[in-house]
Amino acid sequence: KLSKRLGMIADRVPAGVKLADIGSDHALLPTYLAQNQIITYGVAGEVNPGPFEAAKRQVLECGLSRTIDVRSGDGLAVIAPGEVDVITIAGMGGSLIASILEAGKAKLEGVSLLILQPNVGEEHVRRWLLSNGWSLTSEAILEEDGKIYEILTAAQVPALEQAALEALYADRTLPDGVRVQKDRLLLMGPYLMEQAPDIWFMKWESELKKLAMIEAQLQLSTAEASALKAEQVRQEIRDIQEVL
Ligand code: SAM
Repeated sequence: KLSKRLGMIADRVPAGVKLADIGSDHALLPTYLAQNQIITYGVAGEVNPGPFEAAKRQVLECGLSRTIDVRSGDGLAVIAPGEVDVITIAGMGGSLIASILEAGKAKLEGVSLLILQPNVGEEHVRRWLLSNGWSLTSEAILEEDGKIYEILTAAQVPALEQAALEALYADRTLPDGVRVQKDRLLLMGPYLMEQAPDIWFMKWESELKKLAMIEAQLQLSTAEASALKAEQVRQEIRDIQEVL
């Protein structure tokens, strides 16, 4: 059985697709998807030898060697252009996910769906999607074992429709009259802000606590740069509080 987090990622994979799971570790996601006949073919990519061996073992033990190919390599280097329809990248930082997508751009032709689950730094992922012709189509948030995770899905947009991408991040007014701008939407998530689930509030309340601690530390310092940084942190706190 999959964890709640991997289960929610699996739920977002359409039936009948070919999938690459990058940074697959034990290949739990692709093996589950193949066992349940959701994917017809899968690639499990791993850059580190330990997880690569673990993925190979898992696929072999499940008798799925003909459906899932375990490959060793960095990011999207393990797939050929046009080989898969869907790519999942889960359980790493948002900036690493964005850099994997950036380095592997040439492999994304023909890929229709990205399912991305950054552990932190979701805004880097949203920014990369926006600048590269991918439309964020949904956001989900969950809590498991005291950690909060976001799952972002994105669809490739034809060149002609790219202007529409910006619309998702256009300035908007919340029901209580607060104006929200692009940077805030990229940080906190346009759909999540709209739907405002409890877990999303919990996430930002805990971010505010962390920022307050950073601000208190900066207050203790006498360096001029610290005063400036403390003011930036206070501004960040105000901006987040305004949205919540
Ligand atoms: N995707 C699984 C999940 O969500 O449970 C495993 C997450 S695990 C914390 C992150 C995995 O990504 C590690 O096994 C690591 O070796 C792999 N990884 C990190 N950078 C990578 C890269 N550039 N290319 C391929 N795999 C990478």
